[in-house]
Amino acid sequence: MRIILIGPPGAGKGTQCQRLVEHLRVPHLSTGEMLRAAVRAGTPEGMQAAAYMENGQLVPDAIILGMVTKRLEASDCRNGCLLDGFPRTLPQAATLDELLERRAMSVDGVIELAVPRDELVRRMLARKRADDDPEIFSKRIASFEVQTAPLLDYYQRQGKLASVDGLGTAEEIFGRVRTAVERFSQRGVRRGHRERTRPEV
Ligand code: ADP
Repeated sequence: MRIILIGPPGAGKGTQCQRLVEHLRVPHLSTGEMLRAAVRAGTPEGMQAAAYMENGQLVPDAIILGMVTKRLEASDCRNGCLLDGFPRTLPQAATLDELLERRAMSVDGVIELAVPRDELVRRMLARKRADDDPEIFSKRIASFEVQTAPLLDYYQRQGKLASVDGLGTAEEIFGRVRTAVERFSQRGVRRGHRERTRPEV
């Protein structure tokens, strides 16, 4: 299965992704992790990306798309993957659809981890990360609301969106995530069935 997990900064995507990749047995593709690794390794992409990341801004598509395309083409992604942090903008989503379509693949489902803004701020204050400076954190939330939230409509129109309540224990939330995944796979089976039977009609 090819699944996308979308959520604002601090929604608990990391925890849910970890559980979901174990459940689905697919690779975890996190653009945030890929970028942090590139920054640590001091690659040209990493050096370019660092300034944007430190400022809570999105890294330019030229860097992101090259990185993701290469990763998606790796053989371990043939049977599926969990996309985390990508796509983050409408152009990235459109590029992903084209990229998969050319390979006769598609996104099976998109899970939104929904958490109210005041809860995100409360969580941010309780944890510590380099880009969790309150001002930078606000910028990351604003970037989510302006650039990423429109993706929810985009996938809703494709009938692929499942919104999951991101409040509760990690275990409770994962139960909801699993239910969403089950629904995606049932729909996939139905869709496959329709496609197979169509020629006989
Ligand atoms: P979070 O989901 O907590 O915002 P991530 O680990 O997904 O954090 O990403 C960290 C940073 O990396 C982002 O703030 C952004 O600067 C950059 N980044 C990650 N993914 C993308 C992407 N798809 N497009 C542009 N920038 C990205």
